[in-house]
Amino acid sequence: MKNLFFISILISLSLSSYGQTSLSKETEAYVSYPRGLYIFQNLTIVDGTGNASKTNQDIVVNGEIIERIGPDLAIPENANVVNLEGKSAIPGMVMLHEHLFYPKATPGNNFGVNQMSYSFPKLYLASGITTMRTAGSIMPHADLNIKNKILNGEIPGPKMDVTSPHLDREGTGLIELGPFSSTEQVVDMVNLYADLGVTSFKVYNYLTKSDLKAIVETAHSKNLKVTGHLCSITYREAADLGIDNLEHGFYASSDFIKDKQPDECEPFNQRKSLLQLPVDSEAMTNLIQHLVEKKVALTSTINVFEPYTNREVVPGGGLDALYTGAKEKVFKRWASKQGRDSLDYVLFNKAKVWEKAFHDAGGLLVAGTDPTYDGRIVAGYANMRLVELFVEMGFTIPETIKICTLNGAKYLEQDDTIGTLEKGKIADFIILNDDISKNIKAIRSTETVFKNGIGYNSEKLFKAADGLVGIR
Ligand SMILES: [Zn+2]
Repeated sequence: MKNLFFISILISLSLSSYGQTSLSKETEAYVSYPRGLYIFQNLTIVDGTGNASKTNQDIVVNGEIIERIGPDLAIPENANVVNLEGKSAIPGMVMLHEHLFYPKATPGNNFGVNQMSYSFPKLYLASGITTMRTAGSIMPHADLNIKNKILNGEIPGPKMDVTSPHLDREGTGLIELGPFSSTEQVVDMVNLYADLGVTSFKVYNYLTKSDLKAIVETAHSKNLKVTGHLCSITYREAADLGIDNLEHGFYASSDFIKDKQPDECEPFNQRKSLLQLPVDSEAMTNLIQHLVEKKVALTSTINVFEPYTNREVVPGGGLDALYTGAKEKVFKRWASKQGRDSLDYVLFNKAKVWEKAFHDAGGLLVAGTDPTYDGRIVAGYANMRLVELFVEMGFTIPETIKICTLNGAKYLEQDDTIGTLEKGKIADFIILNDDISKNIKAIRSTETVFKNGIGYNSEKLFKAADGLVGIR
């Protein structure tokens, strides 16, 4: 490749002219475009604003910043010229329900999770995630260390908003979680995690309304946000208590349980109530209206609920990323569900309509993949699948890209610097080998992921994690 000569010159230039922290040898091994001055020519762009795609676009990247975008731009002096005709570009994705853990591949039905400090940051970056929120942590210290090592260039990965461990009372029985037993105790936990450097909080299934009220007040007093995968508290109650974000679309809504006991989590009745709720129910329309009025963001993790029958074993690909034991477990579960998930399909189809209705009513719909559950949700690969599912949900391609980029940036209050492919923003963007304006499946053709003006080789990052998901 012609550009290699320029690139090797630019390695030395980038260190001196931009004064950035140098990358470690490990991180550098994944870099195809070191920081420098570039003009990328002849791209088709879906820019993340929701506007229609544009063809024949050039992007000038100078250091960390997108300096210009437009058709037939003049070549800046000393710029490295890269012709990308036939390829397309979208902003780096900002996804908000990510984790650095994955289910244990132990035999049987016992559920537990292991930290994936090595493989997951690479997989996220490989798929084009340049900023992510971990929506719950089992090892907050590890997550914070990873965030800082990525910032320092020591390891490759996305920029991270680290969320606290799941704050919950006893109930789920998950050995990795440390439940609290009083409101005073959970307030202490919020203060402790904030002091450690956590910048977001996650509440879970069994807390009370008084707990949530205290958590929200404490977090908000520090300008930090609270999200929830709820069960004991309804979406309406949580919105009234000031929660910022609700996880898993409407899958975790207990608002429609008949005679619901306050502060009680009833998983069986909860699922039943959603299965029985008509898709065009007025009660749902009213709830959506309420959430929009209260400015509560909703995270779609629709990929977690994708049925098994006639669908991929590992949605988004990524079978090779799994370590043998994990692969066996995932295959077994997939095979056992074939033809036996008609109720999952019923709920999946309704959930898609409700999430889109929330968006269309003016709500801030954001995206995330939740790589936990039964092991087939694999970091990075799942993100690409989620993008495809938004189109299956009825969104146009520009709307889909906006949900996965600008909407996440808006929630994180970083939309002045990231989230779209626009002049003046940080150079976080993805180059795709295929044309995503024509077919959303092009999301799987990632060539290069630019983060802060440095281009990472997607294939190398994906390969580095092969066989390791489930181990490290
Ligand atoms: Zn989760």
